Amino acid sequence: MLVVMKNDATEVQVQAVIREIESWGYRGIPIPGAQRTAVCIVDNTGPVEDSRLLSLDGVKEAIRVTKPYKLVSRETHPQSTIIAIGDIKIGGEEPVIMAGPCAVESEEQALTIAHLVKQYGAQIFRGGAFKPRTSPYSFQGLGEEGLKILKKVRSETGLLIVTEATDHTNIEIVEQYGDIIQIGARNMQNYSLLRRAGRASKPILLKRGFAATIGELLMSAEYIMSEGSTQVILCERGIRTFADNTRSTLDLSAIPSIKEVSHLPVVVDPSHAAGRREYVIPLSKGAIAVGADGLLVEVHHDPSHALSDGMQSLYPEQFEKLMREIESLRR
Ligand code: PEP
Ligand code: MN
Repeated sequence: MLVVMKNDATEVQVQAVIREIESWGYRGIPIPGAQRTAVCIVDNTGPVEDSRLLSLDGVKEAIRVTKPYKLVSRETHPQSTIIAIGDIKIGGEEPVIMAGPCAVESEEQALTIAHLVKQYGAQIFRGGAFKPRTSPYSFQGLGEEGLKILKKVRSETGLLIVTEATDHTNIEIVEQYGDIIQIGARNMQNYSLLRRAGRASKPILLKRGFAATIGELLMSAEYIMSEGSTQVILCERGIRTFADNTRSTLDLSAIPSIKEVSHLPVVVDPSHAAGRREYVIPLSKGAIAVGADGLLVEVHHDPSHALSDGMQSLYPEQFEKLMREIESLRR
């Protein structure tokens, strides 16, 4: 249930509503809006009786939330969420481009790619220091050394950093170094990691699992938000189907479907969906055309020697072309 406060309700009245909800053994999470605050009741497993709440000072109305997810739902938060980090706004008018190698391999590699993607217009550098690899024998990332390189990338280029936390043992350090914490497809239902991510001071980029429905993705985002975070970016990165011409099947319908029911920004990762660099530009244009708030694209200056995902990494000149084509599409 959502308790909508009157426009002139005071903070004391909002707190009284939260205390009343807590006295029933539930939590009340305040959701500030442009005009008024609402309080979302969570942890209840069935309907809540609203008459006591309606009698409290400052309460305008109580609305039943019909979806199983609450904090991520547009019913709770009708305006689209814009996540602002410095001057960058994810979910605003302009698509935000995050680009870089799959993995940070060395300082020279990361800085070379970062300068190139910045030159062509990316706003955020992506690169993994902790890599969730299908094989235990594949390159697992440089760990903290990789994070230190990412810090240098930010100070040399001014690009923000998105990088992945793969479990509860590295999320704290990723939180210190990164500007956005990525949770990968394989971890979309790692609930202890999601809960810890919800207490982080940085925005979370949550990727859809290969076999997850939109509802399951939204419930995972709900785990994060139920811990207090309001800064969640969803990412469609392809799902597993019978199609074997690509690594995964990019589900472009996910973008309008999510936007219909959720206020959270949605970005698209065409690289992991395609698995082949030849398809990344057309899929990126499709993503922008259906309303994605941004892209997460793998780029490498020397893909044939990349330690991971070289086949799907764009050459810098292809990334430049992508940026030009997106700009004309956007116009
Ligand atoms: C990645 O972003 O490099 C990655 C491993 O992606 P995913 O979790 O979507 O497979
Ligand atoms: Mn990758």
